[in-house]
Amino acid sequence: MSTSPAFDRPDFLIVGAGVIGCAIARELARRRAGRIVVVDRGKLGGGASAAAAGVLAVSSSRAASGVMLRLKRESLALFPELVAELSEETGVDVGYRSEGVLEIALSERDDCDLRKVVSKRLASGEPVRLLDGREMREIDGLVSEAARVGAYFPGDCALDSEALVRALYQSAQKLGVEFVFDSPVGRVEKEERRLRVVEAGERRFEPGEVVIAAGLGSRELGTMLRAKMPIRGDRGEMIALRPLVLPRQTTVWRQSYLVPRAGGELFVGSTSARGETENKTTDESLQLLRGFATRMMPALADAPVSRHWSGIRPMCTLRRPIIGPIGGYENVTAATGHHRNGILLAPITAKLVAECVLDRQTSIALAPFKYRKKP
Ligand SMILES: Cc1cc2nc3c(=O)[nH]c(=O)nc-3n(C[C@H](O)[C@H](O)[C@H](O)COP(=O)(O)OP(=O)(O)OC[C@H]3O[C@@H](n4cnc5c(N)ncnc54)[C@H](O)[C@@H]3O)c2cc1C
Repeated sequence: MSTSPAFDRPDFLIVGAGVIGCAIARELARRRAGRIVVVDRGKLGGGASAAAAGVLAVSSSRAASGVMLRLKRESLALFPELVAELSEETGVDVGYRSEGVLEIALSERDDCDLRKVVSKRLASGEPVRLLDGREMREIDGLVSEAARVGAYFPGDCALDSEALVRALYQSAQKLGVEFVFDSPVGRVEKEERRLRVVEAGERRFEPGEVVIAAGLGSRELGTMLRAKMPIRGDRGEMIALRPLVLPRQTTVWRQSYLVPRAGGELFVGSTSARGETENKTTDESLQLLRGFATRMMPALADAPVSRHWSGIRPMCTLRRPIIGPIGGYENVTAATGHHRNGILLAPITAKLVAECVLDRQTSIALAPFKYRKKP
């Protein structure tokens, strides 16, 4: 007699319980899409999502124009309602801060770069302001005297990514989504143009539709599906300081940023080691991050380091996330490769995936985000 367990037949199987998988699960459940199961090889948010700084940077980002800027803008606009709903549904405060982002220039090159971004944003009607040194230090007295030019981006925000993932998970659970942890997807079976079987840990699924939201793990899943996914790792490290006085708001200098948190910590981010997939921290990065913080705000020089961590960003070599159906399959959709913007892009990704699988049409065309075999 066979000992293999009976097939479980959910309407949707989502692989990955990071911010993207949890946001999609909640959105599908809100739209009453049927029975939804999320599987993860580890624990909730155990991939890149728990490591993120939680900056929601749109105007201050360097996205020049076009589809990525539109995706970011539309996603940012979904946050106020999402945050309010999550608080009501779960009681979780995701630490949403909407006081804007201050960016500083510490060299002529930074100055020139910043002025270009500001004039682009002003040309598209955004309420961005160029600041001189005095104006910047009026906003935050901790800003270095070396900063002579800065800009204030009032629309950009920040939140606590770990709390966001927890809130999305609890909300999805309340809506009936089942989560299965410590269960890596290890084997799949294809039948004609359908992914028929997915084995995850001890569980065997025969799902209606599958969503691959596995971050860096999407690359291995792509291999199992014989659909090469152009995803690479990019290790990012961050530290948290405990200064006597916290900066007033998120402050950015080039790729570095300082994010004040409700509990009195100050997150300092972040490094980037492209192609690295080993989740580890190094002394070199610790010194680099301390150096960033001190250059931006010299008073932080004596602040003790309370934590140091790393995460692997899932970076798509197409330089934009992959969102949409996977070629060769009728029932597989990808939502992965969000690199530096997965927290910011989670709400719009969830909306687009739900539209794609339930309505078969989307409010933003997915063509630029489609998986392509040859990037
Ligand atoms: C240091 C750092 C700072 C960042 N700061 C920001 C920021 O300020 N703003 C922002 O928007 N973004 C930021 N990011 C990026 C953001 O964290 C990522 O883009 C986002 O978390 C990706 O989410 P995800 O759900 O796709 O992937 P993940 O969070 O990695 O989740 C994928 C999940 O899939 C699971 N999985 C993988 N393979 C399998 C398998 N075979 N079977 C079952 N489960 C599997 C994993 O266990 C994991 O839980 C930062 C990232 C880092 C590292």
